[in-house]
Amino acid sequence: MDPDCIFCKIVQGEIPATVVFKDQQVTAFRDLNPQAPLHVLVVPNRHVANTEALVPEDDALVGSLVRGARQVARQAGVAEGGYRLVFNTGADAGNTVPHLHLHVLGGRRLGWPPG
Ligand code: 5GP
Ligand code: ZN
Repeated sequence: MDPDCIFCKIVQGEIPATVVFKDQQVTAFRDLNPQAPLHVLVVPNRHVANTEALVPEDDALVGSLVRGARQVARQAGVAEGGYRLVFNTGADAGNTVPHLHLHVLGGRRLGWPPG
């Protein structure tokens, strides 16, 4: 827990968010500024800065993030039509919140390449 981290505060319930899935490892909540009909962020319950901070001991955590994202997509009814999972890392990717998060985007046809 990083006391200055907004996503740590959401995990702890100190800042309100619409939580759609939670287990021992991860929490999934709706993005404040959605870019698609389904836009959820899946975050580790403990503070990890970004993909650059991951170590081999985090491999199970990464699996939990991806399976949590898949669960969110299935529960929202977009799994069959398709969805996109995105980790933004660093300035060039437009990363703004320094707590690892997996974007789950779906519910419309998504363009490629991304902007
Ligand atoms: P990034 O650009 O770092 O990959 O994505 C950060 C995401 O977090 C953005 O899509 C932004 O809309 C979302 N976000 C930022 N602050 C909050 C917040 O306080 N609550 C929620 N639910 N989403 C947030
Ligand atoms: Zn954090």
